[in-house]
Amino acid sequence: MIPYGKQEITQQDIDAVVNVLKSDFLTQGPQVPLFENAIKEAVNAEYVLAVNSATSALHIACLALGVGKGDVVWTTPITFVASANCALYCGADVDFVDIDPETYNLSPRLLEQKLQHAQQNNLSLPKVVIPVHLCGQPCEMDKIHALSLEYGFAIIEDASHAIGGKYKHNPIGSCEYSDITVFSFHPVKIITTAEGGVATTNSVALAQKMDLLRSHGITRDEKLMTERSHGGWYYEQVDLGFNYRMTEMQAALGVSQMSRLHDFVAKRNELATGYDDLLKNLPLITPFQIDDSYSGRHLYVIRLKLDEISLSHQEVFEQLRENGIGVNLHYIPVHTQPYYKGLGFKQGQFPIAERYYTDAISIPLFHVMTNEQQDEVVKVLSTILVKA
Ligand SMILES: *Cc1c(COP(=O)(O)O)cnc(C)c1O
Repeated sequence: MIPYGKQEITQQDIDAVVNVLKSDFLTQGPQVPLFENAIKEAVNAEYVLAVNSATSALHIACLALGVGKGDVVWTTPITFVASANCALYCGADVDFVDIDPETYNLSPRLLEQKLQHAQQNNLSLPKVVIPVHLCGQPCEMDKIHALSLEYGFAIIEDASHAIGGKYKHNPIGSCEYSDITVFSFHPVKIITTAEGGVATTNSVALAQKMDLLRSHGITRDEKLMTERSHGGWYYEQVDLGFNYRMTEMQAALGVSQMSRLHDFVAKRNELATGYDDLLKNLPLITPFQIDDSYSGRHLYVIRLKLDEISLSHQEVFEQLRENGIGVNLHYIPVHTQPYYKGLGFKQGQFPIAERYYTDAISIPLFHVMTNEQQDEVVKVLSTILVKA
């Protein structure tokens, strides 16, 4: 089976992890700051906080921005559930903004309409909006940022798919148009630490708050203490935090992987451009890319033109898998998940996202994919769609 995504672990990665295992620190040692520094250099942000997952990063990002009971957070329905769950963890409510039919990202036009509608009808405006750079393609952040100034919300970019990408010549993660950006290092993502994530920001206050929250709300920094030190052992808990720390093994793997980030993303772009060309005569839509952007190309999503094919979406999907092509579907619209239906969301509420779900398929794309593997994907897809 050719998988839809796959990590690359080299001898250099293995050596980096083994060296940590033989060292004095398995956690809270020098590797985490080294990894944070590698990200900081690559994305051009002032502060980088490593944690044990992007889900944790989203949680502490929401808390740092003051999200709590009575607040509402808006995100896109076409994302992994974690982009929405983070608001619920804080006791806040979630709502969604439908996607743009071409980019599949949160639509700035529909965001503006929903903000106007909320304002005119005295409904709650969002405290935070979480745009997700689906497949690595950046959202139209200039427009979302302009709306944030007009309507007074904060922005967390969920860039779990997008490390190594650029928007208007700035690296994603530089937070030029947001308060905080979050990356994931799960093995299917662009670089991996097995499990892991980071939050980046240019705000010292947000960085300090997230630093406390990732480690129990405890500090050894006298400037943050409320009482005088009792002695060399002294620390204070000044907030209610969690244990969201990244281990030294994870960080060492991350440092090693980061040295290859630009090659990974370049290779993904090369393969994606290859697909654009190889698939152009088939009854499907290849991904549209916005101007002034460089996608991390985490995923390559095709949309089937079902009116030109006799097979159903599900039949095409299953025949691809039966023929060794490890396809997937990103994502089931979050508002249609049973848990979210239990919160009151209904089928039909976000029709562009729901339509996307009826014909989208993620086909294999990973930077160690060979040209032969890519040709095999195209061959199987052509056979299935042509005979259909
Ligand atoms: C993978 C992913 C997450 C969660 O990342 P973890 O590191 O597994 O917690 C969140 N949002 C999106 C869009 C993702 O793809």
